[in-house]
Amino acid sequence: MQKLISFVIPIFNEQENIKTIYLSVSKKFNSFKSKYEPEFIFVDDGSTDKSIKILNDLALKNNKVKYLEFSRNFGKEIATTAGIHYAKGDAVIIMDADLQHPPEKIIEFIKKWENGAEIVTGIRQKTKGKSIMKIIGSYYFYKINSAISGIKSVPFSTDFRLLDKKVTKEFIKFTEKNRMTRGLIDWLGFKKEYVYFISPERKSGKPGYSYVKLTKLALTSFVSNSLIPLKLAGYLGIIITVLFALLGIFVFFDRYLLKDPFGFHFTNLAIVVVFIGFLIGIVLSCLGLIALYIGNINTEITNRPLYVLRNKKNF
Ligand code: UDP
Ligand code: MG
Repeated sequence: MQKLISFVIPIFNEQENIKTIYLSVSKKFNSFKSKYEPEFIFVDDGSTDKSIKILNDLALKNNKVKYLEFSRNFGKEIATTAGIHYAKGDAVIIMDADLQHPPEKIIEFIKKWENGAEIVTGIRQKTKGKSIMKIIGSYYFYKINSAISGIKSVPFSTDFRLLDKKVTKEFIKFTEKNRMTRGLIDWLGFKKEYVYFISPERKSGKPGYSYVKLTKLALTSFVSNSLIPLKLAGYLGIIITVLFALLGIFVFFDRYLLKDPFGFHFTNLAIVVVFIGFLIGIVLSCLGLIALYIGNINTEITNRPLYVLRNKKNF
């Protein structure tokens, strides 16, 4: 029996790329024909060009080509999620439409999956035509994200991924709205393997991810994975409170009990400043406390599974 492999490809104004990606993936896939059968799930994320027409023509000619058409632009994260919802494959391969995820690497992804990997992640080694700002930003994003969420993600890991059916079955249980597909997949665990690739320049069309969109995505990821940003305010508050309390005690002893033996001459204004500093510290500490409550509400509402099973026996 042939196994089914689903390709999930988000599409946002990719009229020049759809045919090329479809043809090159199909061509690469030919060597696997005896073992696997492909299924293409294109998710049109509210394109305003001819993407839908091209998808429709392809789907008419080949029933292995399927597409979902969003009513408007919901963003790539949601588009890939929808694709995974509809994919029926024993494995799902997510890739970009602009050929920045080279189709010749698919063979490596499948080999690693055959050898037991449950998630195969593409790691970008070099990107032609990507600005230095984006590269540095992306490196620190992974570092910070791993550090604050406690979930390891390898720098430059991309959405170019293969997921075993076991993984997609768990993935579709996530109900959170603000999401970053990569982060959720990393959260799930499972056996991971990596494929390294060099990303060529976008084949044609414009990249849809501007700095603003990327920054928003990074913030979404930080905020949804961790409360550390809010807790930091709390820690800062505790430090400020302690510092100003010590300072206050010092001023009190110096001025009222010891009658200023070292001649500091603290003015009334200085005393007021110390008092206000102390109060600011208290306010910030309270914010940290609120962070703990919000954290609890957040985990309850996002309602992630308590645990994820790989297998069950004799149940
Ligand atoms: N994309 C999408 N919705 C968007 C933006 C992009 O579905 O709002 C798709 C796009 O068609 C492509 C993939 O996501 O298949 C990656 O987009 P892009 O090349 O713009 O991102 P970058 O390569 O800069 O990360
Ligand atoms: Mg791209």
